[in-house]
Amino acid sequence: MLQLSQCKLSWQEDSFSKLQKKAAKLLGISVEDFTQFTIVKRSLDARKKPNLFVLYTVRFLCRRESEVLKRNRKNKNLTIAKKEPSLWRQIEEIKNPERVAVVGAGPAGLFSAYYLSLCGYSPIVIERGAKMEERHDDILKFWQEGVLKPDSNVAFGEGGAGTFSDGKLNTGVKDKTGRKQFVLQSFVNFGAPEEILYDAKPHIGTDVLQTVITNMRLAMEEKGCQFLFHTKMTKILEENGRVCGVLTQNGEKEETILCERVILAIGHSARDTFELLKKEHITMSQKPFAMGVRVQHRQEDIDRAQYGFNDEKLPASPYKLTGKTTDGRGVYSFCMCPGGYVVNASSEEGGLVVNGMSNADRASGFANSAIVVSVSEEDFEGDDCLAGVALQRKYEKLAYELADGKIPVQRYEDFCNNQPTKALGKVVPCVEGKWRFSNIRLALPNFIINGIIDGMGQFAEKIHEFDHPDTLLLGLESRTSSPVRIERDEDFESVSLAGLYPCGEGAGYAGGIMSAAMDGLRIAMKIQEKKKEESNHA
Ligand SMILES: Cc1cc2nc3c(=O)[nH]c(=O)nc-3n(C[C@H](O)[C@H](O)[C@H](O)COP(=O)(O)OP(=O)(O)OC[C@H]3O[C@@H](n4cnc5c(N)ncnc54)[C@H](O)[C@@H]3O)c2cc1C
Repeated sequence: MLQLSQCKLSWQEDSFSKLQKKAAKLLGISVEDFTQFTIVKRSLDARKKPNLFVLYTVRFLCRRESEVLKRNRKNKNLTIAKKEPSLWRQIEEIKNPERVAVVGAGPAGLFSAYYLSLCGYSPIVIERGAKMEERHDDILKFWQEGVLKPDSNVAFGEGGAGTFSDGKLNTGVKDKTGRKQFVLQSFVNFGAPEEILYDAKPHIGTDVLQTVITNMRLAMEEKGCQFLFHTKMTKILEENGRVCGVLTQNGEKEETILCERVILAIGHSARDTFELLKKEHITMSQKPFAMGVRVQHRQEDIDRAQYGFNDEKLPASPYKLTGKTTDGRGVYSFCMCPGGYVVNASSEEGGLVVNGMSNADRASGFANSAIVVSVSEEDFEGDDCLAGVALQRKYEKLAYELADGKIPVQRYEDFCNNQPTKALGKVVPCVEGKWRFSNIRLALPNFIINGIIDGMGQFAEKIHEFDHPDTLLLGLESRTSSPVRIERDEDFESVSLAGLYPCGEGAGYAGGIMSAAMDGLRIAMKIQEKKKEESNHA
C-alpha cells in the first residue's frame, strides 16, 4: 500500500473523482490503474486566502506498484504506507471475566465499558441521569421554561456532557495503540459520517451524536453490558484496602452492587460526588483550569476574515486563538463552535454556566467560542482540594443572580465601558435557553475581565473586527476542565484505594470527548492486561 500526501485541489473542484484524477496525474498513471483508493486525511488550507485549497493524503494500491514507486522516487510526498496500530486486533475474549462497575455514561465510561464488553466482561454502567429521549425532553424544558433537573441536564445523563456537546472530535493526545482510530471507527459504526475518519477537524454535531450514543448503548446491551439510569453512586465500598463494590441510589431505592473494580468516570460537574470522595479520603488535588465568557459573532464575518470572501458552499469557518494577558496569564479561545448556539449548560440550582454546541449542518449563521483566561491554584481561596470547585461556584452564583437564572448577554463595547447593554447591534443572541441584557463584569473577577480585554485586542489582529463593539459576550464559561485531579498510580488505580480507577475529564486526565473516550479505553485495556496476567499465573 502506498501513501501520497499534499494532493491539492482548489476548493471549487473538490470531489472524489477529481481527487483520483489529480493523484493519478501526480503519479503519472491513469485512474484505472488504482485498484484501491482511500482518503486518510483532508483539510481546508486557507493560508493563501482568498485562494483556498483542499489538501488530501490518500492511500492506494495500484497496478505495477514497484514501477510507480521507482518512477516517482524523487517525490517526497509518496511513501510506503505505515501499518496503523489497531486496537480491534488486540481484542481478546477473556475467560472468567470479573465484575466491573463503571460510574458515569459519558465518553470515558462508555468507551471503557464498551471495550470490556468486547473482551467478554459484562460491565454494569451506573448513570445518575436519564436515557437519551427523556434527557432530551428535560433539556428542552429547561431551555424553554427554565426548569432545571439536577440529574438530567446538559452535563448529566446518557452520553454525559459529550452528548449535547458540539461533537468536535479533535485531540492533541498522542496515541501509539490505535485508541483514537478505535473511537472514531466506533462512532462511524454507530451512525456517524465516514468523513470523521479523515477530516483534520472531525465534527459530528449534537443532533447526530444523540443517535450515535443510543446505538452504541443498544449494541453494548447486546454484548451483555447492563445500564442503570437514574442511579447515583453514593458510596464506594471497600474491604481490606480494596474496592469491593458501590452503593447506589435510585429515588428512594438503595442498592449494593458488588464488584472487583470500579471505573470512576464522573465528569467535571459531579461536585457532590467529589465531596463524597473527599469524605472517603480518596486522594485528590487542586488543578488549574480556565474561566471567561462565550463570545458570539456573525458567521459571515468570521468566514470573510478567515477565507477572504463569503460563499455559502464553504463550510462555516472555525478559528483557534491564543494570547497572553498583561499579567502573564494565558488567554485563548476554547471549544469554538462554527454555525453553533450558545447553550445554558447549568447543572446546579442557583448557578449559571454556558457552553457551545452545533448541529451537524453548522448552519445557525453564528460563530461562538469561549474566551477564557487561565486560573491557577494561586487564585483559589485556601488549600482544600475542592477550592477550585468553590471558586467556580462563587462566580456561577453571581452569573445566575445577575440575570435571574437567564444567560447574561452584553455587547463588547458595553463590557469595556462597564455598563449593561440596552440594545443589540449587528449580532443577535443565538442561544438555547433564555437570556437577558446584563453587565457581565459584575460576575467576573478583575483578572478575568482584564484578561478578556487583553485577549480580544490581540485576537482582532488575527481576525478582523473580532473585537467589534457589537460582538456579544455571554457568560459565564467556568467548566472548561476539571478543577480537581483524583490521583492515580502508574496502573491508573487511585493512590488511596486499589481497584478504583479515576477516569476521564472529571478525574483530571482528559479534556474533551476524544481524550475522555481514549482514557476510558486506556483503563479498560489495563484491566484486561491485569486480568490476563492473573490468569497466566493461576
Ligand atoms: C455543551 C458542551 C459542548 C461541548 N463540546 C465539545 C466538543 O465539541 N468537543 C469535545 O471534545 N468536547 C466537548 N465538550 C466537553 C466534553 O463533552 C467532555 O470533555 C466529555 O464529555 C468528558 O467526558 P467524561 O466521560 O470524562 O465525563 P462526562 O461526559 O461529564 O460524563 C460523566 C457522567 O457521569 C455521570 N455521573 C457523575 N456522577 C455520578 C454518580 N455519582 N453516579 C452516577 N453517575 C454519575 C454524569 O451524569 C455524566 O453523565 C462539550 C461539553 C459541553 C457541556
